[in-house]
Amino acid sequence: MAADDATPVSSPLTACLQESPIRPATEIGRACRYGDLVPVIEARELTKVYGDLRAVDAISFEVAPGESFGLLGPNGAGKSTTMRMIGGTSLRTSGTLLVNGLDPEIHGPEVRASLGVVPQTDNLDTELRVRDNLIMYGRYFGLPYSYLRPKAEELLEFAQLTEKATEKVDNLSGGMKRRLTIARALVNEPAVLLLDEPTTGLDPQARHILWDRLFRLKEEGVTLIVTTHFMDEAEQLCDRLIVMDHGSIVAEGSPAALIRQYSTREVLELRFGSDRNAALVDQLRGYADSIEALPDRVLLYTGDGEAALAHVRADGLDPVTSLVRRSSLEDVFLRLTGRSLID
Ligand code: ADP
Repeated sequence: MAADDATPVSSPLTACLQESPIRPATEIGRACRYGDLVPVIEARELTKVYGDLRAVDAISFEVAPGESFGLLGPNGAGKSTTMRMIGGTSLRTSGTLLVNGLDPEIHGPEVRASLGVVPQTDNLDTELRVRDNLIMYGRYFGLPYSYLRPKAEELLEFAQLTEKATEKVDNLSGGMKRRLTIARALVNEPAVLLLDEPTTGLDPQARHILWDRLFRLKEEGVTLIVTTHFMDEAEQLCDRLIVMDHGSIVAEGSPAALIRQYSTREVLELRFGSDRNAALVDQLRGYADSIEALPDRVLLYTGDGEAALAHVRADGLDPVTSLVRRSSLEDVFLRLTGRSLID
């Protein structure tokens, strides 16, 4: 879609920029956000080669407006490289890629202006105070102070940092820094937010606060594109995801559909002690639809974990510990690749 075809949307930002030579930062993205049918992302056979390494190997996927879309996979799967190509900071080797209908390699500035980018490592300006990080970032976009001052207050509130507005960035906790980085990426009201490993390094409480903030953005119609190697994060945040491994897509679907397709409803985890786990695998096969032996435990895939456990015990096998749980994306990945997501 040509940028000029975008549906005009009234917002404080567009109002402020009416007289400005700078194009409203979000015009293109907002057209999608308000019901246009152009996919936010269309990747076809997207490939990135570094020397002999096919970091991203002919992947194809689409992201719909308003969707929360995940790229799930272990370290080195090619997730960040894909994000960089979407964000226009890495050139693709081959394939096609459209972001809001535009090729980021041809329309870099327009594409970048329609995106909010949250990189893996916070790159906040530690010389500046919390509020000023938001305002100065907006200035890089050429946004006027008249827009930025109220916007900064709104974003501080969103990030639950109003009371920290005049603090130095160094005084913030890891979770606060992440929320500030996200708030900063929202300064130009992007319709699409790219988040690269948003909660890596955060403690559980900080992760949950962050997920809550991201969920709010999703409710407002912002398209979220998230890379993660945490299956719980993908399950919490993503409507749909691709599972990546060695640069390729190994599965695609909603978390629930992937679990239905590739795993059983429940998993029985048994620990017999590290010297006995592997030795008992053959004996345990009869109790489950399938079985995975990990170094520290055996996973029995079954529709009814408690029933399987009762059978195991009735036959005189006495595990040191047992746990019945729902199948997760971790199980999907294990089934697809034979490896754990976090090695
Ligand atoms: P992920 O985000 O899934 O952890 P990346 O996209 O960062 O994976 O990396 C995919 C592969 O590409 C890895 O093997 C990584 O070492 C390699 N890679 C990433 N960036 C570069 C680069 N700039 N030069 C060479 N190899 C790279």
